[in-house]
Amino acid sequence: MKTKKTTTEFQCPVCGSASREILDKRRIRGRAHVNAICGVCGMVWVVSRQPTKTYEKFYRSGYAVGVYGLKDGKEGLEEVLEWRVRRSREKLAKFDSDWESGSKVLEIGSGIGALLKYLRDEYGCRVWGIEPEPVFAKLSKEELGLNVFAGTFDRWSQKKPKGSPAKYDRIVLDQVLEHILEPVDFLERVVGVLEDDGKLFISVPNVTAPKDRQKDFFIFEHVSSFSPFPLWLLLARCGLKIVRMYAEKPGSLQVLATKFGSSEEMIDIEAVGKPQDKISILKRFNALEKHGNRS
Ligand SMILES: [Zn+2]
Repeated sequence: MKTKKTTTEFQCPVCGSASREILDKRRIRGRAHVNAICGVCGMVWVVSRQPTKTYEKFYRSGYAVGVYGLKDGKEGLEEVLEWRVRRSREKLAKFDSDWESGSKVLEIGSGIGALLKYLRDEYGCRVWGIEPEPVFAKLSKEELGLNVFAGTFDRWSQKKPKGSPAKYDRIVLDQVLEHILEPVDFLERVVGVLEDDGKLFISVPNVTAPKDRQKDFFIFEHVSSFSPFPLWLLLARCGLKIVRMYAEKPGSLQVLATKFGSSEEMIDIEAVGKPQDKISILKRFNALEKHGNRS
């Protein structure tokens, strides 16, 4: 078995460097919540890391209510679904040709299931989901008829649920990587269930083009914050190359990646995202504070 690639909280989870500066410090849930920026690759991560169990408990205790106002029932589901499907459509708009009918799609962190529903209904994909939040998993199974495993990717990997393919043509990580403490280890295992000619779709909040003010951006469950360069580096470390990348201005980064060795061209990372330093990131946040520019 492969040794897990893990870092201490004081090492950059992408490049492993211990060179860092504090970017943001606040108190959340009665504790210090500190984000640092890597002096080498520009990755931003939480150095006040909590034990894994604390995060697991957080997702199990009312996350669906906290984020979407959803309870264990259909109340409000239609409105949330409508909004989430619209958001999925926006995110996938530029990747239209990448979702062939009949292709096997796995979404890790499928949430309420809006994106899988969209891919199934609009593109004719065969879809599977993994979702640790019990209310989301239940609603997506019972109300949307989706095939969703209720649990974490780790549990899914150990259990290998009946009827789920061993490998997938498409894997979706939509607003998931920012929740992961050890992105290299996680992504390597994700790559393990991707077909050789498969494609990986990733969407993450962009710390260099934040939609929220600094005080709203750095939240408890976002333990890793990406910009183009560290995301490119992370993917390269896991044997992946970015074939397309789009940045909302401001908002998320949308990325399509394949395994090395496919015929597609790798994007020129220097052209889109050099490592960002603390000063330039703070400037972006300060500009938002000044203009009260939340969109
Ligand atoms: Zn780094």
